Amino acid sequence: MLASCITQEYTPRVLLVDDTPANLDVLVAHLSSENIELMVATSGQEGLHLALTTKPDLVLLDVMMPDMDGYTLCALMREDPMLTDIPVVFLTAKHSEQDIEHGLGLGAVDYISKPFSMPILKARVRNHLALKRKGDQLAELACTDALTHIANRRFFDQMLDQEWRRAERNKSELAVVMIDIDHFKEYNDSLGHCAGDQCLKKVATTLKAAVHRPGDILARVGGEEFVVLLPETNLANATLMAEQMRLRINALTMLHPSSPSGDRLTISLGAASLYPSPKRVPTDLIDQADRNLYAAKRSGRNRVVAQ
Ligand SMILES: [Mg+2]
Repeated sequence: MLASCITQEYTPRVLLVDDTPANLDVLVAHLSSENIELMVATSGQEGLHLALTTKPDLVLLDVMMPDMDGYTLCALMREDPMLTDIPVVFLTAKHSEQDIEHGLGLGAVDYISKPFSMPILKARVRNHLALKRKGDQLAELACTDALTHIANRRFFDQMLDQEWRRAERNKSELAVVMIDIDHFKEYNDSLGHCAGDQCLKKVATTLKAAVHRPGDILARVGGEEFVVLLPETNLANATLMAEQMRLRINALTMLHPSSPSGDRLTISLGAASLYPSPKRVPTDLIDQADRNLYAAKRSGRNRVVAQ
């Protein structure tokens, strides 16, 4: 799902990993005055588990720990797509040039040797958190449609690939619904582009209200074209969602004075589902939904076609 760090209240999370509880106590005592949520782990394994389950914004990591040391944990995090964007700062008694070079070479953003100054540590933590937030915001913008604030095509394509592979592994069904506003060109031509943009926003908000499950993704993929990706969904349920979307748009009773078919704004929808397999590609699913969308257009619009 899209992160929502731009619009929501933001309290960054910092994970502290050290096998010596006294070190953790000192850090917690000093960092608790900052506007951050602190989590602690006393082993590399626990640190890895917490990183995966809580997705912190920064990890302060000891090097010398039994079983899994800090270097190993940092290397594992860099290789894991779920963790690779989380910055790691080493905080350690190891202070040789070789140690520092090795730590930074593993992808840590900073290396702080003990003994360290607490005010400088705090300042560095703040800077790294500010950079992480900027990176998160850019990543979110890159996935968001600027007009409607729902997902864009880039994000949809990424998620389609990801869900395709997941469905193939789990032998589950994957569905999409393609959605197109009827006679949108006429709407734009008669009412102007500002009204057209308002219309697109209203339609996006209305469609979004029909999407309830956390894994379902609604995206704007063209001028007046939307799509919803529905993991673990069969054709009957995809059709049900499509029909709910159609009814919600009808219930808006938005005027479309230049529509060749009635005076209200409507949408046409094409639903499709399949079981991903090595013999198929994601575009097979999209193409089928597209064919159904055009069948809906040809047979009179304001309807759902699914087959
Ligand atoms: Mg240690």
